[in-house]
Amino acid sequence: MSGQWQEQVSLKPYNTFGIDVKARYFTQAHNDADVRDALAEAARQQVPVLVIGGGSNLLLTTDVQALVLRMASSGLRILADDGERVIVEAEAGEPWHPFVQWSLAQGLAGLENLSLIPGTVGAAPMQNIGAYGVEIKDVFVSLTALDRQTGELCEFDLEQCQFGYRDSLFKRHLGRWLILRVRFALSRVLQAHLDYGPVRQRLSEQGITAPTAQDVSNAICSIRREKLPDPAELGNAGSFFKNPVVPAALAERIRQQHPGLVAYPQADGQVKLAAGWLIEQAGWKGYREGDAGVHRLQALVLVNYGQASGKQLHQLAQKIQADILERFGVELEMEPNLY
Ligand code: FAD
Ligand code: NAP
Repeated sequence: MSGQWQEQVSLKPYNTFGIDVKARYFTQAHNDADVRDALAEAARQQVPVLVIGGGSNLLLTTDVQALVLRMASSGLRILADDGERVIVEAEAGEPWHPFVQWSLAQGLAGLENLSLIPGTVGAAPMQNIGAYGVEIKDVFVSLTALDRQTGELCEFDLEQCQFGYRDSLFKRHLGRWLILRVRFALSRVLQAHLDYGPVRQRLSEQGITAPTAQDVSNAICSIRREKLPDPAELGNAGSFFKNPVVPAALAERIRQQHPGLVAYPQADGQVKLAAGWLIEQAGWKGYREGDAGVHRLQALVLVNYGQASGKQLHQLAQKIQADILERFGVELEMEPNLY
């Protein structure tokens, strides 16, 4: 075993659900050399490797019989600046929200709608993180990843990442590529996206008619703080289910029985349903089973009141999935990665 590996480490501080399972081995990578050393040593020992960032999109249901490699690399830099379009690069271990704040402090717009999302830069492309009408694909340029099958460094441009709704090439081939750093194209000119949820209304309540990117970020932070549980106070992994995208005919059938259905037509003719609305209609909002529960303000968020195990949370999720399928004929897909 490598000298830098710790054994039997509790992962409670390393996942936002606060689930207390153990990693057989645990280490942190501060740079590319640390990553390569850890992977080489794990290969020699024939120990599997689970890479994590902030642990905010994980559901850990059992002790992890692997080396947990936590990305802790740091570095934020401007690579190119033509006075309007600015290319920035961030290391995988950089925490996402401080990176957004850094970009705003440089006078750069583009990431403001993605404020206050937990986790790291390196995990952001995994599910093409999105909020309030913006996804990272909208500002993404390229990333560098280590191919764990071949040991080669690879560059991926926008098209190669195959970003979709909370989806990417990397999520579909979990564990294949280890993302080392990501590049984004930001702008000195704000193109505001305010027509999603209560963003515009919040700004106008504050008397702001011509917002800066920082104003938009502040508004989104205040909305999010009101609605979403802070993992530091109540364990959670954000939205537990993806919003299902269903054929228009199914959405119409549901609407006939439930006229209040919250649904958004998509460009391809399908319809995105608000999973939180379906779960709330089915009566799960605020439900609690031991320490596993459904948040009282946002039915899409499962919470750990303290001692819930990953298995208990998973069982609750499966009950909700079965109920939604029976009531509405809609399959809910889990968003966090299950281990
Ligand atoms: P982790 O949970 O550590 O890992 C997630 C997955 O990525 C795992 O499979 C892991 O193996 C893999 N991984 C991590 N780092 C790397 C790497 N460098 N290379 C390769 N694979 C890697 N998500 C949204 O999209 N929009 C939101 O608005 C949003 N809001 C949230 C609010 C709250 C309160 C919480 C708790 C979560 C929210 N999330 C949201 C989900 C989550 O924050 C994001 O998915 C985030 O990008 C996960 O980052 P992480 O570093 O915590 O990843
Ligand atoms: P909300 O504003 O109450 O909206 C409910 C749902 O309706 C959202 O899931 C959103 O879908 C969808 N929606 C709202 N306005 C829309 C529009 N104009 N066009 C298309 N779809 C629309 O949602 P919320 O729970 O408070 O979250 C606000 C934003 O933060 C959302 O974008 C959400 O995705 C994001 N968020 C994500 C997570 C996560 O873990 N993934 C956690 C918290 C918040 P989308 O989800 O597709 O945007």
